[in-house]
Amino acid sequence: MGLAVLRSRALAGLAAPAVTVEVHLANGLPAFTIVGLAEAEVRESRDRVRAAIHNSGFDFPAGRVTVNLAPADLPKESGRFDLPIALGILAASSQLPTSELDRYEFAGELSLSGALRPVRASLAMSYAIHQLGDSQRAFILPKANAAEAALVCDAKIYPAESLLQVCAHFASNDPSARLTRTLPAAYKTTGQYPDFSDVKGQHLARRAMEIAAAGGHSALMVGPPGAGKSMLANRLPGLLPPMSDTESLETAAVQSLGGSFTVEHWGRRPFRAPHHTASAVALVGGGGQPRPGEISLANHGVLFLDELPEFDRKVLEVLREPLESGHITISRAARQSVFPCHFQLIAAMNPCPCGYLGDTRKNCRCTPESIARYQGKISGPLLDRIDMLVSVAALSTDEILRSEVSESSAVIAERVTTARARQHARQQKNNAALSVKEIENVCVPEVDAENLLRAAMNKLQWSARAYHRVLKLARTIADLAQTDVITSAHIAEAIQYRRALSMQS
Ligand SMILES: [Zn+2]
Repeated sequence: MGLAVLRSRALAGLAAPAVTVEVHLANGLPAFTIVGLAEAEVRESRDRVRAAIHNSGFDFPAGRVTVNLAPADLPKESGRFDLPIALGILAASSQLPTSELDRYEFAGELSLSGALRPVRASLAMSYAIHQLGDSQRAFILPKANAAEAALVCDAKIYPAESLLQVCAHFASNDPSARLTRTLPAAYKTTGQYPDFSDVKGQHLARRAMEIAAAGGHSALMVGPPGAGKSMLANRLPGLLPPMSDTESLETAAVQSLGGSFTVEHWGRRPFRAPHHTASAVALVGGGGQPRPGEISLANHGVLFLDELPEFDRKVLEVLREPLESGHITISRAARQSVFPCHFQLIAAMNPCPCGYLGDTRKNCRCTPESIARYQGKISGPLLDRIDMLVSVAALSTDEILRSEVSESSAVIAERVTTARARQHARQQKNNAALSVKEIENVCVPEVDAENLLRAAMNKLQWSARAYHRVLKLARTIADLAQTDVITSAHIAEAIQYRRALSMQS
């Protein structure tokens, strides 16, 4: 009797593979079958589509209705296919003209009344459509998703509020019934990061954050409660250079998948601070329809792990691989989802269980055994991947009352940008990302600086990995000083951020 084919998108990790929605009408006993969805989803989708068609003033066809979602082996969350299924039924039963349908893709969940409800990850879908280049189709989707989907420049996004409105777009003779394309708004990042001028004193820790930002280095801050570790960490994104359009798009697409994106966050480097009770899935991602975890939501931004020793050791272990590779693969049954996770790790901990070891204001009450046990909770391999260890002392009353004005983030960020530009001109990447081979090429210290480093290495019994990390740090310190030469002074400062890593002794 009738056939209609429409196009939509599924979700697989950050990808949004194409799905065709075929609707067949045939004579026979009334039946409504959907092939390609899980059974529970089929039931719900059928109910919504049937009611929406009725309540929009159309007829639900009397015979056998068969809907086929292909390919069969893709993960499909049913809601998003309501709109193309309903349109396909109307087209196959000649209640909707078919001539234009092939130039569009569709996604949207229907309410029983026929209103369109938002779907997840519209940005990932419009991004996938956009990648088709000249052959990209226009995209009709729920109004609530339009601003997000239109962030992809050139995407032809047409928002709609109801099934009826979409039908009018294709069927009405009245030009004013056509849907209006959403054009991307120009989103500008303004100074919405907390500012370093709020941080009193803490010259050493501020310097450490500047170095971390300049080279993309990971850092662990050690200091008593209330010393300002969190305050320093959440100001780090404000020191990093503005995101490129590609970085902004990737970051937004991941957040959109996780359901946490709003257009106001466009171009803003993420700062994620999961609680220490977070599970491995919450941290790295997972689930039946795999969702990105905290490390991916922190993509191109900062992941802050406060009270590091309180995290489950097994949870911390899963961080090691993505820290090096910049992506995470989540396997679920036979399917794999890959999420990006280029994050900068900043962690913090107290020096001992009570927090006051080495503090001048209060005495530590911990035993040497409990201190060793506490510090030992962080595994050697993870510690080995942290570039800098930073002591953050509590401020004295004097320092708190002193009314000096600290440097603002904008001033520090300028030095960071200059240092990063030197790195990219030299090696097309941050110093933190240098391989061992690259380190040997671009991090060559002067002779006496080399001697100083070797002496420290022998004395402190470093691994080769630790040695290379000091060289990378020294390279960043020299880049901040705008010099190609790594001197003893640069090495000495870099060693200081490593030496404290033997805190167990
Ligand atoms: Zn203590």
